Amino acid sequence: MIDARCSCGAVSISLPGPTRLVAACHCIDCQRRTGAPFGVGAFYPVEAVTIAGTPKEYVRAAESGGRVRCYFCSECGSTIYWKADNLPAMIGVAVGAIADPNFPAPFRSVFERSKHAWVGIDGAGIEHLEQGSARKSLG
Ligand SMILES: [Zn+2]
Ligand SMILES: [Zn+2]
Repeated sequence: MIDARCSCGAVSISLPGPTRLVAACHCIDCQRRTGAPFGVGAFYPVEAVTIAGTPKEYVRAAESGGRVRCYFCSECGSTIYWKADNLPAMIGVAVGAIADPNFPAPFRSVFERSKHAWVGIDGAGIEHLEQGSARKSLG
């Protein structure tokens, strides 16, 4: 088991282990959510994770359609995970909240149309999409 948690530790999520379903997303919403030039999410089946704490929910429209529900700590503000209405069986977990430099690299880089020019997501077999869904064809 590995854990993702917020800065203060009030919200955490237990994960069964690393996953290869990791995607980098350069959309403007992920930039604003993270405060970083792009977001990286690891995707798990909802039933495989255990959530502790009581995060606050923020619902927004997704650039790829449908709505996304982001869950963040009301004490420290970190977003730990999110759920997309168009893929209800999966949960996205903020890879930064796992805080493991050896966590698997992204297999897909999406919304590169709004990627900062100096950012490069490199590696063998990485799929690069101008838009697209981080979650499309996962699993
Ligand atoms: Zn917190
Ligand atoms: Zn995004």
